[in-house]
Amino acid sequence: MSRLCLLNHDKQIDINIDENISLTDVFIAATYRQLVLATKCFITIYDLSSVLHGEQLTTSYEKINIPSPILALTSTIDRIIYVYRSVDNSNELKICSIHSQFQEQSLTIGSFDSNDNIHLCSLDDGTIYLAYDSKIVSLSTNDQWLFDSKIVKLCSGKEHALILLSDGRVFSWGNGLHGALGHGDLEPCSQPAHIEALSDHTVTDIAAGGWHSLALCSDGSVMSWGWNNDGALGLQSVDDGDTAGVFCDPVLVTCIPLDVDCAKISAGARHSAFLGSNNHLWLYGSNKHGQLGDKSLTLMDDDLRPAQIRPLAGTTRHRLCAGQVCVSVASCVKEIIENSLDAHSTRLQLTFIAHGADLIELVDNGDGIPEHDFDKLGLRYHTSKLSQFEDLEHVNTYGFRGEALSSICIYADVTIVTRHTSASIGTKLTFDSEGQVVSRVPCPRETGTTISIRSLFGRFPVRRTELQAHSKREFSQALNTIQSFAIISRQIQFFQISSSADNHPPSHPLLTLTPSTSLKDTLAQIFGSKILESIIRVDDDDDDTNQDFKFDGYISRPQHGSGRSSADRQYLYVNNRPIDCAPLLRAVNDIYRHFNPNQYPLVVLSIEVLNRSTLDINCTPDKRTVFVEHLSDMCDRIRAIFTKLFETSSNVYIGSTKRTQDTSESSDLPTPPAKQMKIERFTKKPSQSSDIPILTTKNPLSKFSAPFNTIRSTETSSPTASKLSTQERALFTFESHSIAKSTTELSLSENEDEDPHETTLLHGSPSKKDFLDKIKQLRQKDEETEVSTSLDHDLLMYTSTPAVKEKAKPAEVPKSIQVTSYNSCEIKVKFDMAKLKKKYEVMSQNEDVSSVISDHRFNIHLEEDQNEEAEDELRRQIDKTDFERMSIIGQFNRGFILVTLVDNSSQLFIVDQHAADEIYNFHRLYEQTTVSRQPLLLPKPIPLDPSRQVLLQQHLDL
Ligand code: ADP
Ligand code: MG
Repeated sequence: MSRLCLLNHDKQIDINIDENISLTDVFIAATYRQLVLATKCFITIYDLSSVLHGEQLTTSYEKINIPSPILALTSTIDRIIYVYRSVDNSNELKICSIHSQFQEQSLTIGSFDSNDNIHLCSLDDGTIYLAYDSKIVSLSTNDQWLFDSKIVKLCSGKEHALILLSDGRVFSWGNGLHGALGHGDLEPCSQPAHIEALSDHTVTDIAAGGWHSLALCSDGSVMSWGWNNDGALGLQSVDDGDTAGVFCDPVLVTCIPLDVDCAKISAGARHSAFLGSNNHLWLYGSNKHGQLGDKSLTLMDDDLRPAQIRPLAGTTRHRLCAGQVCVSVASCVKEIIENSLDAHSTRLQLTFIAHGADLIELVDNGDGIPEHDFDKLGLRYHTSKLSQFEDLEHVNTYGFRGEALSSICIYADVTIVTRHTSASIGTKLTFDSEGQVVSRVPCPRETGTTISIRSLFGRFPVRRTELQAHSKREFSQALNTIQSFAIISRQIQFFQISSSADNHPPSHPLLTLTPSTSLKDTLAQIFGSKILESIIRVDDDDDDTNQDFKFDGYISRPQHGSGRSSADRQYLYVNNRPIDCAPLLRAVNDIYRHFNPNQYPLVVLSIEVLNRSTLDINCTPDKRTVFVEHLSDMCDRIRAIFTKLFETSSNVYIGSTKRTQDTSESSDLPTPPAKQMKIERFTKKPSQSSDIPILTTKNPLSKFSAPFNTIRSTETSSPTASKLSTQERALFTFESHSIAKSTTELSLSENEDEDPHETTLLHGSPSKKDFLDKIKQLRQKDEETEVSTSLDHDLLMYTSTPAVKEKAKPAEVPKSIQVTSYNSCEIKVKFDMAKLKKKYEVMSQNEDVSSVISDHRFNIHLEEDQNEEAEDELRRQIDKTDFERMSIIGQFNRGFILVTLVDNSSQLFIVDQHAADEIYNFHRLYEQTTVSRQPLLLPKPIPLDPSRQVLLQQHLDL
């Protein structure tokens, strides 16, 4: 962004030019009320009056495109003149003038060096002078003057003109009435005359004001002459107050301190500006809008200027924020579908060309847009759905922020064809990037609206390239968005989506949805009827009328194969609004994966929040994030509903993972089916004491963890508990469990039947069973062991069992230590240090013996920095040929073969029979099989849902 500063009256107004124009290679000119910027083949004219009224700089005309790069630009008080080279004839120049109307004239100039600068100026009477090389041409009179040096600069005041030659001489001509010519007399001069008074100076720059002129000399001084109206010359005598009206021959401007060189000069109608090499700006004279006075400003480099807080310009604000609304094809699609649904449409037809990069078009049969709204349609924060913030709670429409169309206008070319129910004919509206209607033409149309979004991000090259590179991915996301609306909206009776990958219109629809009576029907239409076999209804049969939420929807069955390999089909809705809510989805996925660990469910979950004041839908511009006041309750309910649902449709029983402080809930759980295992959870027995030395913690974070469950065999008390297979043990789940506030002590019991609240401690490994027995013994023998919980407990956590085990063993010896944990629990266990030491010694001796016996192949002593050697050593452990030297000892567990190396029987290997078989078959088939394809006699159509169709199209070459 470029910034210009306008000095007006006594104010300094920063002008932000939003276009990506670099002010270093731009032609700048100004008329009375307009700022003109020209760069390459564009001329932009801005309306300055809006800036003077404190508004934003606006483009006053459409941009002017010229056929070849601009060569020169100038302006008078009311006219803009520019020159460019004719495309057909390189020696022909086109000189265009915009005054009250556009005029163009041609000038053919002889051999023309393309490196030559063209200079242009114009007097108030309309005379245009053009200079190049060492020649000046008057375009009105065809007078021409030739010089003996090159012309470096040409400039003009109201009625006079100046040229500067490369040798430092200055010539002037025109009306000398006010001394502007510097010739020492007031007579007009019809042709350029040398200004003798400047002969002692080498002039490097000139400037012409209305009736005065300035010359910058090579020594940094400035000479001025002409009409000293209100100090326009910058003479210090202006301070005397009596210089108004004085005119003079060239004299030195003394207002700039002697130790400062002047770097730049500029002259306006009645003022002069001098920029010092110290970045000070001196202004003298007056302009038409008020007194500039004599003033010195400090202009600093941007880098040096201290950062200030300033309001952002309106358009800048808009552009910055618009990015949040329409960031992708999907978000544009979302917005226009929402608008159509808000307008009560029942038929929607969406067309994408080049996956939406070239065109996104939505045809609806909604209410249409009334004529009085046309002009406001594309403006930011203009909406028909909300008038004040308080209405938000009752808003029933998808949109309410009035941002979507204006954002889309910024990023794309938008046309809307609409006919309101009250109109007799449709209207086609074209919008510019500001959301203003630039054309409006009658157009035949049935009631409804067609919005066409062309060349998305066309004005933003980086984003455009990115979009084109990933258009397929963008389209897949858009498709997902469309599906999310199609699923939930019962109002849609017909929804057709067509898409083409190239820039041709799509030939056939990708997806057509017809009216469906139920959600299940819609799902079958979108994902294929096969989906119905693998989903179950989410039943919220809670009769409690005080419930804040109601749930409805479908989810994959919890059996393996019914879910999906990724979480790509998960749709959440709150009051029919598609939303993103990670905690809710996590809750659903967590529960699902308890039952089907390797898959994700397809889930369509519609949540009705009955008390709308607990819901905030205005959290983000895209309205996909909602804030629900009791989100954790909602998650709890979801856990409970899904657990119950999956338990009934699954043959695996998993205890409720609902995070709750109400332990009585565990008793509500259905009795587990008679399976080989079941999972229990620790519960706190309200009135029994326990002396089990288990570490308890009062961890403030623990209530955020999941409940801690254990698995045990149905015959938990029997030794078979230790025979859990590896697979079974894999189902062992560790989850946290909160325990109600109570002063009672903990107890563990193995017999669940006695009391459903009774806690059972079981472990996923046989050793833990032994440990239980030990605890039992301990309980009987050791009277001194105590577990007490403090009164302020509201939450106790069981630590994982290894910790328990470590503490339990020393408890057999008769010395007591105290273990305090988080001030909330005191445990006294007996401990004999001497005995432990002894035991440890015995153990380490045994270890030594075993290490002596073992004859392993790690022969080198490894230091930390010897990793490479270690790797070498490991690499040597086994290679393919070793298999030939192996002798089989036997088989165990019907799946593993025990082998030793023939020449080194101390090395035992276990071969996974299944894996070995697979690799053997793989190599055998790989070497022997030749695949001969047999084409089908009749092609067999495979029905694919739209996202799979897109996926297939993307990988057709495979
Ligand atoms: P919002 O939807 O938040 O009001 P938008 O910028 O999306 O803001 O739309 C602005 C207004 O344009 C809407 O309030 C609505 O009145 C009108 N509008 C947009 N699209 C349609 C449409 N397809 N049918 C009828 N009216 C529409
Ligand atoms: Mg909208």
